[in-house]
Amino acid sequence: MSQIIKFFEDYEASKKIEGKLLYNHSLAKSSWLGVGGAAEVFYLCESSSQLSDILKKCPKKFSRTVIGQGSNILIRDGGIKGLVIKLGKNFQNINRSKEGIIAGGATLDRVIAKYCEKESLSGLEFLSGIPGNIGGAFAMNAGCYNNDLDQVFYAAEGLDYNGNKIKLKKCDVTLDYRHNPMSSSTIFTQVSLLASKGNQKDIKNKIEKIFKDRILAQPRGIKTGGSTFKNPDEKTSSLKAWELIQKSDCHKIKLDGVSFSKKHSNFIENKQNVSANLIEDFCRLVQKNVFEKTGVELLMEIKILGER
Ligand SMILES: Cc1cc2nc3c(=O)[nH]c(=O)nc-3n(C[C@H](O)[C@H](O)[C@H](O)COP(=O)(O)OP(=O)(O)OC[C@H]3O[C@@H](n4cnc5c(N)ncnc54)[C@H](O)[C@@H]3O)c2cc1C
Repeated sequence: MSQIIKFFEDYEASKKIEGKLLYNHSLAKSSWLGVGGAAEVFYLCESSSQLSDILKKCPKKFSRTVIGQGSNILIRDGGIKGLVIKLGKNFQNINRSKEGIIAGGATLDRVIAKYCEKESLSGLEFLSGIPGNIGGAFAMNAGCYNNDLDQVFYAAEGLDYNGNKIKLKKCDVTLDYRHNPMSSSTIFTQVSLLASKGNQKDIKNKIEKIFKDRILAQPRGIKTGGSTFKNPDEKTSSLKAWELIQKSDCHKIKLDGVSFSKKHSNFIENKQNVSANLIEDFCRLVQKNVFEKTGVELLMEIKILGER
């Protein structure tokens, strides 16, 4: 038995777990790409105080990884060593605040958008277009249609990987394009978002338009991870990642069941349930070809986690 499993078996024997602790738990269903190995220890967390206790007591030599809804991760076939944390339903809640709303870290982005529609709150319609939960969105600085989390968050709470409480205000952190500098060491349990009184019909119309646009522009009902590569910054290239992929003819590459979507040439489709390693190889091949043909180094937007 591994040392970390022994640690958690002893922990479980001494305390009731609020949530679930699972050992060698397959993560394939925890990722939209539908592949990946097992978490050595998987903790579906239902209590902030227990999460803090676990993080404080779990020796630092065991790595910590947090996942959300898995819409932006590729989990390698060798799985993830150490502790994998996912926030459970006790972190799915929305409350009104003076500035807008406060959402628990596991609240789905689209649920927040719908809540705002019901409450006639404007400014967060774009969240209806982003899969995943608000903890993941904050960690990724997710966005669409010229909006992103950086523009709308005003505070956040969480725990660092040693179990200490973190309280952030907007002025404490700057989120860059698809990047939050704190996400590699923090579990975001709550995010506070600006929203203002609006016209319910306008909000509804915006959400419907986003839904229709997405149907036209993105594949649906298939295993994908959204945008595979980040768009380069303007100094590096005026072309977007999908344009560079097309320019390099990489949209035509097929690697044993992995290819780009015909609807969106930066969205991978995992049609034949291939291995995570093959999907990673596909990404590396595309990066190599794009670099050779255009001189631009495409950076991954999808987060690759775990061991090959
Ligand atoms: C069809 C499709 C369309 C998409 N469209 C968009 C789009 O328009 N715009 C866009 O920005 N993205 C888009 N994405 C990508 C993805 O939906 C976003 O990045 C999303 O915010 C990820 O949230 P998640 O809960 O699924 O996080 P995961 O994919 O589970 O995790 C993503 C990252 O966030 C970290 N993380 C997750 N939860 C937490 C937490 N509570 N605390 C700290 N770190 C955490 C993880 O460690 C990982 O590094 C799309 C994906 C798909 C599949």
